[in-house]
Amino acid sequence: MTPTEAILEKRRRRALPIITSPGGGTIAPELPDFEGVPAEEIIEWAFQEFGLEVVLASSMQDSVLIDLAWKIEPQVEVFFLDTGFHFYETLATARAVRNRYNVNLVMLEPVDEPAVWSQEGYKACCAARKVVPMNNYLKDKKAWMSGLRRVESETRAKAKAVEWDAGRGLVKINPIVEWSDEQVERYIEDNDLIVNPLKLDGYDSIGCVPCTIPGNGREGRWNGTLRAECGIHQVHPAVADPPEPGPTAG
Ligand code: SF4
Repeated sequence: MTPTEAILEKRRRRALPIITSPGGGTIAPELPDFEGVPAEEIIEWAFQEFGLEVVLASSMQDSVLIDLAWKIEPQVEVFFLDTGFHFYETLATARAVRNRYNVNLVMLEPVDEPAVWSQEGYKACCAARKVVPMNNYLKDKKAWMSGLRRVESETRAKAKAVEWDAGRGLVKINPIVEWSDEQVERYIEDNDLIVNPLKLDGYDSIGCVPCTIPGNGREGRWNGTLRAECGIHQVHPAVADPPEPGPTAG
């Protein structure tokens, strides 16, 4: 049995669903409920459904999702939001990932003359350096995959493995949404994965230098403000943009 036949057979046995209106539209398709389904099978489904038109977002904290996806589809396209404010360690992790997996790593740059957090505020800065470049890049894709997990924060606690990204008219896939921190750590250890060295210095969540300090979960992001998300993820419930008292993270 060829690898493709094996996937089809597994899919037939598990009756993995086929969705009828994949991406690129404004009407949400009927999406499968993958609660309890292993990450590998969710990723197999994604490639079966969308081929290489499903792309993978990485923040370069670790390479768990890249490793899982690459083992199923080595040609997977990975994108990284190169905001201009990343830690040296994060950029070094991106280079190490590209060298190890030889994946097509797309570095998305900010818009021209991007806003700066210290002058225009966090929302404008994240929009110019993350949200708008990502929206432009995803315009001709059918789906995107992220390593978002429920345990990371309250805003992510209700995320599903497959969601409709209404703002972009795309299917969004979160294959490891159910994973605990321990599962992530075990997978990293078992597979000898690349990890951003800042993780070892107490940074659970790693974003841009001015907006990240060490901390558990996402507490080190925009610390001292009410800001919880940069705007690239749809969160549940939707959170209003908080007031911006000014930067406090060093
Ligand atoms: S995380 Fe901070 S520095 Fe990075 S894009 Fe957002 S506001 Fe700007």
